[in-house]
Amino acid sequence: MAGQGGFASQPTRTPSAQDLVITLHQVNPRRPVMAGEEDTQLNIKKAMDDQIGLTIGSQLDVGENFITAAKRLPTHTIKLHAQNETVAKRLRETDVWVPNGLRLHALTYEVAVLRVPVLRDQGPQDIADNLMQQNDFIIKDQVVYAKWAKRQATKQKYATLKIQLKDESAAKFAVSLGLSLDAEKLLVEPANRIPRQCRKCGKVRHTQRVCRSEAFCFICGGRHEYTDCKEKCNKDLREDSGLRKHPGAPPIFCSGTEKCTHYARKFCSNCPEALREGHTAFDTECPTKKAYLEQIEQQSQLYRAQLLGVSPREGYNGYGRNGGSGSESHSLSPQ
Ligand SMILES: [Zn+2]
Ligand SMILES: [Zn+2]
Ligand SMILES: [Zn+2]
Ligand SMILES: [Zn+2]
Repeated sequence: MAGQGGFASQPTRTPSAQDLVITLHQVNPRRPVMAGEEDTQLNIKKAMDDQIGLTIGSQLDVGENFITAAKRLPTHTIKLHAQNETVAKRLRETDVWVPNGLRLHALTYEVAVLRVPVLRDQGPQDIADNLMQQNDFIIKDQVVYAKWAKRQATKQKYATLKIQLKDESAAKFAVSLGLSLDAEKLLVEPANRIPRQCRKCGKVRHTQRVCRSEAFCFICGGRHEYTDCKEKCNKDLREDSGLRKHPGAPPIFCSGTEKCTHYARKFCSNCPEALREGHTAFDTECPTKKAYLEQIEQQSQLYRAQLLGVSPREGYNGYGRNGGSGSESHSLSPQ
């Protein structure tokens, strides 16, 4: 699915290592390629280098080591580091070098269309089709993907629709002019990036739906679901609250989730080994998660500034024209 679960699903201006990163998604996430035991980071790097050498190598300004590093994410998405920006740019422009079973990450521009009437017989893609027909600047096939911003949207009269556009200028037009739909004018805002955290392994940047990692137990640090942990808390909460134990009344057991305060030790799957103990991956105090949320916030601000045509340095607060994003907050809800 285009732009789903991608680390770089929205463009940013940050001139950094990001400019060298090439992202390859699995065409079929259920049958990932280059995901076997023998596919180490080094082997992937070499395979990619060979493939590039055989295809567009002669068009590049360097003769070898087109890729300096390769990394496979838990989702099996592959991140490559190009040797320089020119190589990175060329590799993003053409997919002749991309091995079968993988596809180049497409840069898309996601916008949130506010207060879209929810009709029983129209799905997000139908509405996107209507938007394409009724707004000249969104040419045919411009919409990569359309979905409701929230799952319960279909129960509402109006809801926020998120659409991904292929073209930056179409997204800019939509944001500045709004979109026409059946003689109504709908407000459009740049979509915020949504932080992701996996319920299964606890790591940020992906969700449980696409997770290919082992489970991580915050109670003992082992590779199993915390619900299966031998050390899981099942304290009778009536002892804490000082409630008298009525004979015959059933005990109230602690749920033993990461919110439980009875554990002497807790472990985080986000942080490096040495910093792992003392908190869980879901704690707001986890330094890795904190840094990630700040990064997402910064990327959202840059993206908003980019589509609204303002400089983020000029005191732009990143919260849009009406003081709110209108569609979602940055609270991190595990999925
Ligand atoms: Zn995971
Ligand atoms: Zn455990
Ligand atoms: Zn407990
Ligand atoms: Zn942590």
